Amino acid sequence: MTCGARRPRARPCGCAKGGTWADITFPGGLAGRCPRRKRLDGLLADAAIAAGAELRDCTRATAVRFDDDRAVGVRLRHGETVDEVDADLVVGADGRRSFVAREVGAEEYMAYDAPRAMYWAYWDAPAAWSSAEYPFDMYVGHVGPNVHALFQTDGGQLLAGSLPPADDVEAWRSDARTTLRADLAREPVIGPLLGGVAPDSEVRGTIKERYFFRRAAGQGWVLVGDAGHHKDFVIGDGITEALLQARRLAAVIAGGGTDAALECWWRERDVRALPAYYWGREEGAVGEPGTLESLVIGRIARSTLLQAKAARLPLHECSAYDAVPFSTVLRALLEGLARGKPGVIPEFLAQAKRIRAYERAMKERKALIPACEQP
Ligand SMILES: Cc1cc2nc3c(=O)[nH]c(=O)nc-3n(C[C@H](O)[C@H](O)[C@H](O)COP(=O)(O)OP(=O)(O)OC[C@H]3O[C@@H](n4cnc5c(N)ncnc54)[C@H](O)[C@@H]3O)c2cc1C
Repeated sequence: MTCGARRPRARPCGCAKGGTWADITFPGGLAGRCPRRKRLDGLLADAAIAAGAELRDCTRATAVRFDDDRAVGVRLRHGETVDEVDADLVVGADGRRSFVAREVGAEEYMAYDAPRAMYWAYWDAPAAWSSAEYPFDMYVGHVGPNVHALFQTDGGQLLAGSLPPADDVEAWRSDARTTLRADLAREPVIGPLLGGVAPDSEVRGTIKERYFFRRAAGQGWVLVGDAGHHKDFVIGDGITEALLQARRLAAVIAGGGTDAALECWWRERDVRALPAYYWGREEGAVGEPGTLESLVIGRIARSTLLQAKAARLPLHECSAYDAVPFSTVLRALLEGLARGKPGVIPEFLAQAKRIRAYERAMKERKALIPACEQP
């Protein structure tokens, strides 16, 4: 995703697992970007207004209105002013703690509590960031127990963050600023860059997330983006997911948006979203990266074909299991055994189990689609 008039130059995403590194270069000059929300949200609002939407800023939906079981509108509050709005379709695009989802009673499925928390802050990019030492726009490293991320963002700043296991957050909560600073200073890529200095912003954190699918369509209502589906943010995919969902939903609504068509959109959403959900679940799992994972990353680093496949992941053009096929994992297993590392066997068996679970879930979700053919 790019934003702003001047398109910044596109550099790879650096990924580290254990001590192994792979660069992922996106095709066609595409790049991973990390715009600040205040900028991105303004751009989205401007685009919506240009397309004919009426924007009511600083306004909260405080009730969904029903006629029998059918949603027929919302109640809005702006300061002391309350307004009732009629709607053929109520679209809940109100994020992971969706109020609309609560009002319509959208049930959750395939859900789990986040295994990791996240703390992050912003630094003015030091001069070294533009040097040959840091030839990437983004870095995601899983070297010890914590996952770390480093992104270029607006205003010449860098976002750096740490994702400790949720069980460790007590140690962070009392002094997140000092803990984040010390944790990042130990990180092999981020530490030398930021030099252990204090951030130029407050430290933010989130410690109790939940990842889920929710029923996303019902009588007179629909949920889009995080309101209906929230996944582990370790893979940085939620905004892409929300935009792709919105694009498909808009086409369904423009085509008439019948209950049957919306149900079909929901079931297809599940199938489309499942690969990244499982990918996020794997990447966010607690523990240090295994030997097998490091060997797989090493194989990606040595193969332009695997790098090209991995670059298609954030574009939602393939699943993690297509990008890193079973044959690659098998070769990594053999490499590990040849290097005298028998610990790769249980890792391999665990991976095979995860792939089977994903394939089962995909089959179940796909089976729900034919029942709702487009009218
Ligand atoms: C810590 C963290 C890090 C993340 N990192 C990344 C990342 O690097 N890359 C990425 O792509 N994604 C990331 N995500 C996920 C991403 O933020 C979400 O997937 C994405 O923002 C979902 O967009 P959305 O529009 O569905 O919901 P949101 O962005 O949450 O927007 C919902 C909007 O609805 C409004 N709203 C809520 N309730 C009401 C109400 N009652 N009435 C009116 N308005 C209401 C909110 O104010 C908000 O503006 C991260 C998430 C977290 C928590």
